[in-house]
Amino acid sequence: MPPVDRLKPIRAASSESGYTLIEFMREFPDDATCLEHLWRSRYAPDGKTAHCPMCDTERGFKRYQTKQRRQSWTCTGCGHHLHPTAGTIFEKSSTSLHLWFYAIYLMTSTRCGISAKQLERELGVKYRTAWRMFNKIRNYLMADDGGPLTGAVEVDETLLGGKIRNDARRKREALGWSPKRWDQEHKTMVFAAVERDGRVRARVIPNSSGPTLRDVIRENVEPGSILYTDEWGGYRSLAGEYEHRTIRHRDRIYVDGLTHTQTVEGFFGSAKNAIRGVYHGVSIIWLQGYLNEYAWRYNHRGDRNTMFRDLLNAAATTRL
Ligand SMILES: [Zn+2]
Repeated sequence: MPPVDRLKPIRAASSESGYTLIEFMREFPDDATCLEHLWRSRYAPDGKTAHCPMCDTERGFKRYQTKQRRQSWTCTGCGHHLHPTAGTIFEKSSTSLHLWFYAIYLMTSTRCGISAKQLERELGVKYRTAWRMFNKIRNYLMADDGGPLTGAVEVDETLLGGKIRNDARRKREALGWSPKRWDQEHKTMVFAAVERDGRVRARVIPNSSGPTLRDVIRENVEPGSILYTDEWGGYRSLAGEYEHRTIRHRDRIYVDGLTHTQTVEGFFGSAKNAIRGVYHGVSIIWLQGYLNEYAWRYNHRGDRNTMFRDLLNAAATTRL
């Protein structure tokens, strides 16, 4: 075995991590390198020339030291400023770019995600700041990539959240509440569509009525795809637009050849576990953000090595 250089740690081949903290720190040691990265990925791949919208041509750009420590590059032809953070989730944030990049690193280096509480500790920022950073990352960078789902697509809906404690349950029962009423008032309806061996979409929906399901399916699944659902009546109105196949759960049939909804049910099962395990229950208003994160992880499950890059690219290309 070759001697180990302790000053240059290398990743063990057996390590699951595709990008270690040491590697992150080496590539992004400070705020300036993060800004430079954004500058290059958004405007100037070589770091020097970019398209100036004022001159309407390629120009040399320079970074001048200013008193305000402006985060911009200046066109050497006309003096126009380009701001690499403009229009991104980092714009006008009082949190340093380095901390933002580190937060993105942390989110993509953990298997099941981390809580805002943990981020608060890791970054040394206020809880509210950690919380806001997470929401921006979830709602902008982890929102869907790619077009509508196609091919063989399973869809289903389920109720999430609102786990009832025993004492609370007894009180409600004493008031004559049925379990169904608890579900209606405290749980949130969630819709998911999954391509077999492919991508997933998950959405908070107001109810499971026919019109609601039809809209959310049209938005997320390419017409003409094969749609697998259970026998719920809300799915009936889709015939004509999709090749619709139904599995009769009522008759205790769960798999009939290719007709089943096991993939989407598996997605719901693991999403429920993840939300329970990492986040200890989630308030309804934040649920869509968590679903985005969970679906994003599912969609990137094969390429752990590139998750950090993918999210940085999304940060450079997503407009608020
Ligand atoms: Zn110019």
